[in-house]
Amino acid sequence: MAVKQFKAESKKLLDLMINSIYSNKEIFLRELISNASDAIDKLYFKSLTDHSVTTKKEDYKIFLALDKDSRTITLTDNGIGMTKEELEKNLGTIARSGSFDFKAENKAEDIDIIGQFGVGFYSAFMVASRVTVISRAFGSEEAWKWESKGAEGYTITQTEKDEPGTQIILVVKESTEKENYDEFLDEYNLVRIVKKYSDYVRYPIEMYREKSRQKEKPADAGEDYEPEYESYTELETLNSMVPLWKRAKKDVADEEYNQFYKDKFYDYTDPARVIVSRTEGTATYNALLFVPGRAPYNYYTREYEKGLQLYASGVLIMEKCADLLPDYFSFVKGVVDSQDLSLNISREMLQQDGQLKLIRGSLEKKIKNELNAMKNNEREKYDEFFKNFGRQLKFGCYADYGMNAELLKDLLLFYSAKEKKLITLAEYLEKMPGEQKYIYYAAGESADRLAKLPAAELVLEKGFDLLLLTEDVDEFCLQVLRHYGEKDKEKEFKNISGGELGLETEEEKKAAQEASEASKPLFDAMKEALGDKVTDVRISTRLKSHPVCISSEGPLSLEMEKVLGSMPGAEGEMAPKSQKVLELNGEHPVFAKLKALQEAGDKETLGRYADILYNQALLIEGLPIEDPVAYAQAVCELMK
Ligand code: ADP
Ligand code: MG
Repeated sequence: MAVKQFKAESKKLLDLMINSIYSNKEIFLRELISNASDAIDKLYFKSLTDHSVTTKKEDYKIFLALDKDSRTITLTDNGIGMTKEELEKNLGTIARSGSFDFKAENKAEDIDIIGQFGVGFYSAFMVASRVTVISRAFGSEEAWKWESKGAEGYTITQTEKDEPGTQIILVVKESTEKENYDEFLDEYNLVRIVKKYSDYVRYPIEMYREKSRQKEKPADAGEDYEPEYESYTELETLNSMVPLWKRAKKDVADEEYNQFYKDKFYDYTDPARVIVSRTEGTATYNALLFVPGRAPYNYYTREYEKGLQLYASGVLIMEKCADLLPDYFSFVKGVVDSQDLSLNISREMLQQDGQLKLIRGSLEKKIKNELNAMKNNEREKYDEFFKNFGRQLKFGCYADYGMNAELLKDLLLFYSAKEKKLITLAEYLEKMPGEQKYIYYAAGESADRLAKLPAAELVLEKGFDLLLLTEDVDEFCLQVLRHYGEKDKEKEFKNISGGELGLETEEEKKAAQEASEASKPLFDAMKEALGDKVTDVRISTRLKSHPVCISSEGPLSLEMEKVLGSMPGAEGEMAPKSQKVLELNGEHPVFAKLKALQEAGDKETLGRYADILYNQALLIEGLPIEDPVAYAQAVCELMK
């Protein structure tokens, strides 16, 4: 019998494919099952118009068998089968898809056939040393046997088969030192593979499974009877068939969604929100997404991998498709199923896939809308969500030069000093008195401490609200946003420890100006004493009861200096510094004392006091002081 060569570049292609498209051997089973499912689909499709097809819908099935002794895995379907010519054409030519032709010929856009690439079948050679295909086409009496050991070619001979359909027999390779093939002869493992990739194939995948049961206790069994076991086989359907995401939301109980989530994504808490999405049109897909009820322990670490499970027509093609989710929604879990994607597609190719981009865009909108709805209708839940994942949204705002800030800004919450709870920026604006010019905020580690800052007291006393920012990313996020509000009515964000607060009346400003000018010699003397620690010393408009405070000029705030300084690689000299201004309270007795020292020409004491006051101001802001020991000594000196 003559061995026929695979057509054209097939040999090379076969090697290439085996080594590159599939990184994972176990998917051979997914490919063969998908082909069987396609073959059944084709016969079913035919039955709609051709009444010679007598198979009833419930009789279509795929049958899996395992024989360890002969090292074979056998997969049988009662689908449309193949003629001799079709065996030649479809299996003899790599990258030729009978399924693709079928779809085109039948203009069957709405039938959900998986194959279209014509390479899946050959994945069998990743695990099999010999592949035998016995097939009888529907409507033909003849059956044919196609057989191949891989790259050298294949043979076709006539054979017998009772029913139309296809049977594929794989002889599993012998294990080597490097590769374990015996695992594919393990029943549990095989069942696991079926469940993993093919759980939602529409037709039952059946298998006789070995089970064990306790034998009945004999009537004459004595006291010391030990139960005996016997093994038996039972036909089991391995797949669950109807994917939850294809069922209408109204037909699924919340509990089912929750259970599905917990099983599939190994969580023990219910999801905070279930998102069911189906779209048709430019991007056709079904998605079932979940917002977890709590952040995974490694969420804010490098180890966390974002991604959604990607299915093509109910068959798993990727466990974690990262390209489906933007980073700021990386907490979302779930599955996406699209019939517009093909099975045999590598990661690299998928990245280029236009369809995938459309789906991603559509999912992004959907997630945003759902989060918004949660914020508007289930505020408590949203607060909880925000405690878990708000940080990620804020990062998203700030990342990529604020490219996504517009999209995310309404999802943000910040702690309000006045309301003592998390509020949105819109809520801040709503309650803002007419004369208020800015959206005020203070940034630091503890909300309690921030609310007690001298400038905070001043803002709150005016009846204005103040956002207390306690996460490192907060201020960077607001800086990227710059302002918030309707077009032309936007309000700028204002850090209360930097620059002018816009709280003073014109007269107050003028008075401060005059006082400053009158005290210029004092400020110059103090500036000289403090050196490059400060860029300026001046009279403050943000102080009431304290003698001093520190504020910042320029783009970098005091808090940002702290955050940047704590990043790896930015310690010490390299850390970016804010420009600090020492502000003095002109009404305070300490001020009078300073002035007296300057007028008396006591430069030394003035220098020491300037230093103590500077350190005090740093401490009030929660900033580290350079030399705590020297500071403590200076204070003790005062007590003597
Ligand atoms: P694809 O599924 O992408 O078309 P495959 O390499 O998996 O490519 O299969 C090639 C072709 O072989 C299929 O398109 C189909 O026409 C045919 N084929 C494979 N398996 C079967 C089967 N079990 N029954 C009928 N036809 C099959
Ligand atoms: Mg296929």
